[in-house]
Amino acid sequence: DMSDEWNSAIDTSRPSIARAYDVVLNGKDNFEVDRRFVAEIVKVVPEIYDVAAYNRQILGRAVRFLVDQGIDQFIDLGSGLPTVENTHQVAQRANPDSRVVYVDNDPMVLAHGRALLAENDRTAVVTSDLRDPTAILGDADVKRLIDFDRPVGVMLVGILHHLHDDEDPRGIVEAYMAAVPSGSYLFITHFCDSSQDSRDAEKKFLALLGTGRFRTVAEITAFFDGFELVEPGVVPLPQWRPDEAVPAELTVGQRLMYGGVARKP
Ligand code: SAM
Repeated sequence: DMSDEWNSAIDTSRPSIARAYDVVLNGKDNFEVDRRFVAEIVKVVPEIYDVAAYNRQILGRAVRFLVDQGIDQFIDLGSGLPTVENTHQVAQRANPDSRVVYVDNDPMVLAHGRALLAENDRTAVVTSDLRDPTAILGDADVKRLIDFDRPVGVMLVGILHHLHDDEDPRGIVEAYMAAVPSGSYLFITHFCDSSQDSRDAEKKFLALLGTGRFRTVAEITAFFDGFELVEPGVVPLPQWRPDEAVPAELTVGQRLMYGGVARKP
């Protein structure tokens, strides 16, 4: 029985990244341990719920941007629990032929992914660890939906900060980008070392969740080395190609994550 298999894989003794993110998106797929973790983060960054919303908003803007550039296939790495306006919904509204492969290693994401799979045959959910690009790139669903002879949108949204430096996040990004042709795009959002509050938040993430590396703007920008950053470069999320005017002076929460999009030459 699938639900037994699913339940036994879920560890409710400690917070999970996917479930904690679900808390800040006001979702229902989380447990007491996840809510307690978020309550600790709220003490240092009261705006953390807004930060999650900014991250989902840039995801929508960037996916629309990529569809405008002709991208019709996406690999969404560390995709999270399905919420409103997921990558395939944004992309397929702009171009119904868009194909999306979601990759996440949280067992709850797969359980929900079955509903996504039922929705259409141009979307798949792969339960795998994105730190193994060879396995992901060789996965049957990835190979079925993604044509590696044509440009691909590679998404690492709100996930690279959950990789420690000794896990070689740069090398992982490079491995995915090496597999896609010229004209492909890389889209990253990332926690940024942008204030004392961000450094306090980093301490709490590392102590309570085990991951959460707040990198400097220079470190985040370095993930795009070798690719052509599109305007306006690596910026606080609300400032990336906003739909509406953004105040010049941003809050701690508005500067907590930075993001950017770049094209593979
Ligand atoms: N990309 C979505 C977004 O930005 O809205 C979700 C971001 S959520 C903060 C990060 C997701 O990455 C979680 O769902 C978590 O389970 C997943 N994740 C963490 N480490 C992973 C790994 N090593 N391999 C695959 N997924 C991972």
